[in-house]
Amino acid sequence: MSDRKGDGEVFDVAIVGGGASGTSAAYHLSGEGLSVALLERHDMNTEASGRNAGSLHGQIQHEPFLEEGDEWASAWLPALRFLADSLELWDTLSDDLGTDLQVGKKGGLLIADDVSQLPAIERKVAFENSIGIESRVLSADDVRQLAPWITDDVVGGELCPIEGKANPLLVAPAFARRAVERGAVIMPRTPVDGLREERGIHILRTPRGEVRARQVVLAGGDGMPALGRLLDIDLPISSGAVQVSVTERIDPMVSQLVYYAGGKLTFKQAQSGTLLIGGGWPARRNAAGEWVVNPESLRANLAMAIRIAPSIAELSLLRTWVGIGNGTPDHSPIIGAVPKHPGVWLGFYPYMGFTASPLMGRVLSDLVLGRDPGRDLAPFAPDRF
Ligand SMILES: Cc1cc2nc3c(=O)[nH]c(=O)nc-3n(C[C@H](O)[C@H](O)[C@H](O)COP(=O)(O)OP(=O)(O)OC[C@H]3O[C@@H](n4cnc5c(N)ncnc54)[C@H](O)[C@@H]3O)c2cc1C
Repeated sequence: MSDRKGDGEVFDVAIVGGGASGTSAAYHLSGEGLSVALLERHDMNTEASGRNAGSLHGQIQHEPFLEEGDEWASAWLPALRFLADSLELWDTLSDDLGTDLQVGKKGGLLIADDVSQLPAIERKVAFENSIGIESRVLSADDVRQLAPWITDDVVGGELCPIEGKANPLLVAPAFARRAVERGAVIMPRTPVDGLREERGIHILRTPRGEVRARQVVLAGGDGMPALGRLLDIDLPISSGAVQVSVTERIDPMVSQLVYYAGGKLTFKQAQSGTLLIGGGWPARRNAAGEWVVNPESLRANLAMAIRIAPSIAELSLLRTWVGIGNGTPDHSPIIGAVPKHPGVWLGFYPYMGFTASPLMGRVLSDLVLGRDPGRDLAPFAPDRF
């Protein structure tokens, strides 16, 4: 079923998932000289990796911090370290992949407009500093200097200097292109609906035939629970449809990735000049059960953005779209071997997997090759739940 290998050929690795995680793994593994097949049930980059807001996150997200508290934040630091290390890889990724991924890293600004928001920001910054992330608390004047467009109501905030943005429409396709140049075989419209092992060879069943491989990487995003069931493993990955909006193009205005301490909001200005406004507002299902834009969420999301940046009230909105976001109960990734299935590896980063994808691919590649990934993966173990 591949144009490069005849039926019965055995690939070194089969990867399930044509998003940023799977294509990043394909890029790294093919770069190590392994023969790689990547199977994607739809077209490439059509799920979360191609629908996200393009934020490159490197701070503890304020909303879960408020909801889950200090103990959770402390336990989550290995996952934050993973993001911070992945952010370093973004610096050279455009050159590595030979594509301008529109990466900009001018930092992330968390805005407070009520003094009651400041103590939590101070505690959060202390957690980030404890693992070497040089975020800092800002005064209102500091914020005004960095963001002259800010509301008069600003009282302070946080700057996390390692954060930024990239274009999600470009990233997974660029990983995939490089992987193909290195010999990987990409198989779009090839859903995996069975997985068994015979004499050390993993056989992936698809409606288009079987694919054989010595090792398997599952990077299926929203499809991970179903893939887990093929192996009798329960992956408690939650799904939620959220929406993102984009405005018309404007002159350069917003340099940073912006968050709001008073509610669900992120926005940033893309290289094209558009503003991308999101923050995890829920979509809704229509009568046919399909996910569609939720006007209530749209109204609340835009109202919040205008509260922080009043001048954007004048802009036209071009489009709002929906994507499925995925989480884990502890907000930490799932990375490692599947119990009782040697040679099958899982790679899933919740909520912020776009940011994590460059490092995710490298770590999965290390695991397949039997190398030390250079970090303790115990907090991310698939059987921890
Ligand atoms: C609206 C939205 C905004 C977001 N904003 C951000 C952001 O700004 N920054 C950030 O870092 N993260 C963001 N995220 C999260 C981020 O997009 C995801 O964490 C990340 O894209 C996950 O990448 P992935 O490759 O693991 O999964 P996916 O992109 O979901 O790719 C998995 C692929 O596997 C395929 N697949 C699944 N099951 C099978 C099967 N059985 N057979 C074959 N193929 C299969 C799927 O079709 C899919 O293409 C956002 C998510 C959403 C939905």
